[in-house]
Amino acid sequence: MKYDVTVIGSGPGGYVAAIRCAQLGMKTAIVEKYNTLGGTCLNVGCIPSKALLDSSEHYHAAAHKFEKHGIEITGLKVNLAQMMSRKDGVVEQMTKGVDFLMKKNKIDVYRGVGSFVNANQILVKGESDTTIETDKVIIATGSKPSSLPGMEIDKKRVISSTEALKLTEIPKHLVVIGGGVIGMELGSVYGRLGSKVSVVEYMDSIIPTMDADLGKELQRVMKKQGFDFYTGHKVTSVTTKGKKVTIKAEGKKGEVVLEADYCLVSVGRKPYTEGLNLEAAGLKTDDRGRIPVNEHLQTSVSNIYAIGDVVQGAMLAHKAEEEGVFVAEWINGQKPHIDYNLIPGVVYTWPEVASVGKTEDELKKGGIAYKTGKFPFRVNGRAVAGMDIDGFVKILADEKSDEILGVHIIGPRAADLIAEAVVAMEFRASAEDIARICHAHPTTSEATKEAALAATADRALHV
Ligand code: FAD
Ligand code: NAD
Repeated sequence: MKYDVTVIGSGPGGYVAAIRCAQLGMKTAIVEKYNTLGGTCLNVGCIPSKALLDSSEHYHAAAHKFEKHGIEITGLKVNLAQMMSRKDGVVEQMTKGVDFLMKKNKIDVYRGVGSFVNANQILVKGESDTTIETDKVIIATGSKPSSLPGMEIDKKRVISSTEALKLTEIPKHLVVIGGGVIGMELGSVYGRLGSKVSVVEYMDSIIPTMDADLGKELQRVMKKQGFDFYTGHKVTSVTTKGKKVTIKAEGKKGEVVLEADYCLVSVGRKPYTEGLNLEAAGLKTDDRGRIPVNEHLQTSVSNIYAIGDVVQGAMLAHKAEEEGVFVAEWINGQKPHIDYNLIPGVVYTWPEVASVGKTEDELKKGGIAYKTGKFPFRVNGRAVAGMDIDGFVKILADEKSDEILGVHIIGPRAADLIAEAVVAMEFRASAEDIARICHAHPTTSEATKEAALAATADRALHV
């Protein structure tokens, strides 16, 4: 069979690229080695983690907030098997949705491991071997969890996110190595269900790539939720004996020894290219295992493109999707554009954390003069009504032009609030623009307006 485009990998990068190629009239194939489509995101990433975050948040609210709302419950308990089964149902519904989208767009799905025979032929090793002829190839093979040198993720007691999404018991003590996005999200799931959670983070703050104020506030709030933090600690050993894991880490004040029943290793993910036989197509990975691409996401072989987690940049589903659309449109002769500065980042803890644009640190390092407007949720009517008073909206705007350069939010549904900031920045809005837009009352989005008022001549109305 001969195709205009063959996509390898059916995650959010790959399946979206395939849909856009098909929409533009290209005969398109997609190759996936797993039984279900949707990649990391739908099967073992974004979707199952959010399903468990929502379930555990309901439980936590019932256990800790309902009474204040005047709702009394007796006999409240967690049915972990049911929680996991609901999560599996959500995943099934979403992955079947991708099956439907492939059929609807007349995309041929090949199940098996795809590898290059040469730049225009892909061998699919599945139940039977098939060779696909193709004009263009889009590599979207994603990433897999990283581990630490000398420490084995045994998938039983020392686990990655994949196993953490399907535990059959609630850990008594969960040690999380890496206070990044996965550590905070999956730590939250089990913390809310009753686990003691200890986080060992190498850097001096959690979620260290985000604006420093966000990490500080998240750590403060999560401490209140019962988390222990060992920031500035380097893990030196992880050993397992029966059901017990011992984690040793070295900090400025000496060694800490933590004993746990589970240890989640969440120290980042690495690009995945195993089995692709890149050499046969004339391709090589860089020193970090990524496939090098130019500004058009084209590899060193002109008919082969690569997108998503397997290339440079943030490992995010929406970044992969944007790149999928970009490549399809570029192949089609259009002139698409992605502004990587405007890809939002979200951590789905409670409160949520969301960010777009430059951090204060980046502005300082870049020598850009800026002003700051900050507004706390503790004086926002909707947040007070819902008892969600932790956090703030922080807007960074250019000192002279007032153009918004970065927006950093920690608070209720920050993941949804950040969309306003992304739209504003896409249209190069000033803080004054947001300050003068009418925001419905009472909503948490009023905190964004107030932060914009604070950024423009310190004129917030409600502080
Ligand atoms: P992937 O989704 O990794 O898909 C790659 C696919 O390629 C896989 O299905 C794989 O089986 C297939 N494949 C690989 N090699 C071959 C081959 N040779 N032949 C055939 N098929 C192959 N991002 C967010 O934006 N929001 C979130 O809330 C979020 N939550 C996450 C939670 C967790 C626990 C994890 C682990 C990740 C999360 N992410 C989140 C990150 C997100 O999942 C990834 O950024 C995203 O899935 C990357 O998409 P992709 O298409 O590049 O690759
Ligand atoms: P991460 O990069 O977010 O965090 C890893 C953390 O581990 C960092 O804080 C890092 O300083 C720390 N670390 C590294 N080595 C360490 C060591 N030896 N000891 C202690 N700490 C160490 O990575 P992650 O949380 O594993 O997530 C992987 C990827 O998945 C991320 O790129 C993220 O974007 C994506 N993801 C996104 C979401 C989301 O968008 N909500 C959710 C989950 C995962």
